[in-house]
Amino acid sequence: MSRSHPKSIRLKLISLYVGLLSVIFVCFGAYIYWGFQQFLVHALEQSLTRRAHQIASTILEELPSRGDAYVAGEIQARFAPELNERVIRISDASQHVVYASRNADLLSSFLVGPVPAGMTEGKAVSRREFPDRGFPLRVIALGRRLSNGNAYTVEVGAPEDEIAMSLRGLLIMLAIGFPVLIILAILGGYSLLGRALSPVNEIVNAAERITFKNLSQRLPVPPTGDEFERISEALNRMIQRLEEAFQIANRFSADASHELRTPLTIIRGELEALAGSPSLPDQSKERVADMLEEVERLGRIVEGLLLVSRLEAGETQMKFEPVNLGELTDSIADQMELMGEDKLLTLTREIKAGVIVEGDSARLRQVVVNLLDNAIKYTPEGGTVRLRVKVEENHGVLEVSDTGIGITPEALPHVFNRFFRSEEAKAGRLPGTGLGLSIVQSITEALGGSVRAESRHGLGTLVRVQLPLIQQKKNV
Ligand code: ADP
Repeated sequence: MSRSHPKSIRLKLISLYVGLLSVIFVCFGAYIYWGFQQFLVHALEQSLTRRAHQIASTILEELPSRGDAYVAGEIQARFAPELNERVIRISDASQHVVYASRNADLLSSFLVGPVPAGMTEGKAVSRREFPDRGFPLRVIALGRRLSNGNAYTVEVGAPEDEIAMSLRGLLIMLAIGFPVLIILAILGGYSLLGRALSPVNEIVNAAERITFKNLSQRLPVPPTGDEFERISEALNRMIQRLEEAFQIANRFSADASHELRTPLTIIRGELEALAGSPSLPDQSKERVADMLEEVERLGRIVEGLLLVSRLEAGETQMKFEPVNLGELTDSIADQMELMGEDKLLTLTREIKAGVIVEGDSARLRQVVVNLLDNAIKYTPEGGTVRLRVKVEENHGVLEVSDTGIGITPEALPHVFNRFFRSEEAKAGRLPGTGLGLSIVQSITEALGGSVRAESRHGLGTLVRVQLPLIQQKKNV
């Protein structure tokens, strides 16, 4: 029985680790984005600087000798700034523009922007301009003093559209990569953790199967060498201690009931002798008879407790012989029919012939007697008690059903417990010890069978005993 709990460790760990992974991915993505942006800006600046140096060292050098028009023509011819999406401007120390590419006038801020002060010879200074429209411009300004002593500033700029596009591409890739990574992490984590945590399910399932009836069973110890192995071993040691405690308790019940037997027999004998004494006054005889009744009840309790304790401690030797379940039930029904007749009960039988189970006939007799006794006891006058013997799923089945008072849903899980009697049974002062069904259960389980009860309060009860068929055992 593997239950998936909404708060399972697996889900907790996966959410924790997916959360952690998301944070790492976002930080890593931001770092990559920032690094890539720096790289692109740097590359653009490098290219612009190279271009400024080329202009300064080749074309601008000719300015004193050849004039402004030559410079403009050469720049247009060699660099075609408008086609290459470059903006070029050359100005002198008094901010007089010697040359400006045609697209420069579109970029008003570039045109009106002041030439950086303190331009050092040969040193390129980078800045950003924000035109009224379009992308921001990256601009490199380079100072140059010519042989005639005049200082000039060469500025080369380019829009950052390519950078923006590359960064957008990177962002899209990251945005697609993120959910893919998370899905992979969830799937991977789910299967890996499932494998790592599978011992837990095995341990839980095995632990669920262990009840006080099979305390000799142990949990599987996964040879993982980790905490799971230690938990299993610790739980097994605990189960062992429980088993020992349980055996001590069983031994105690068995010993106590065994010790009580002899004095009870003596008391009964004495009381019987007293009851038969002719000198005893009638009033006392009545009291002695009451006492005898109580002593017999006590005797039944002691015998029942002894039997249950010994069966559960595995101390009772069971015979495993072929028993004709139908014949056994039939003969007991014949004997007990009278009890039912007193209460005007209808006793019906549906008994399949030849249902041979493997068991101990004396013990099985006790099973049938206890069940039939209960059915008659808990069914009011005029009711029906039905006995059925059949074969089902390779088992011999005995069903005892009645139209009696039934059992409340609260009481039903406890009816097989020792000394359990329902409130109704107690209030109705119906005879009983509360051991009948525990004896039935101990015997059937000791014989390798099982018993269960179904009931509808106020309508009736069905108790079903399942026992291994003789053929089935032989085949094993
Ligand atoms: P008891 O000696 O009280 O009959 P059992 O162990 O045989 O003890 O049964 C335990 C309790 O289960 C009973 O006290 C009764 O409340 C309930 N029970 C058992 N059989 C039936 C039945 N056929 N109909 C209604 N209640 C039943």
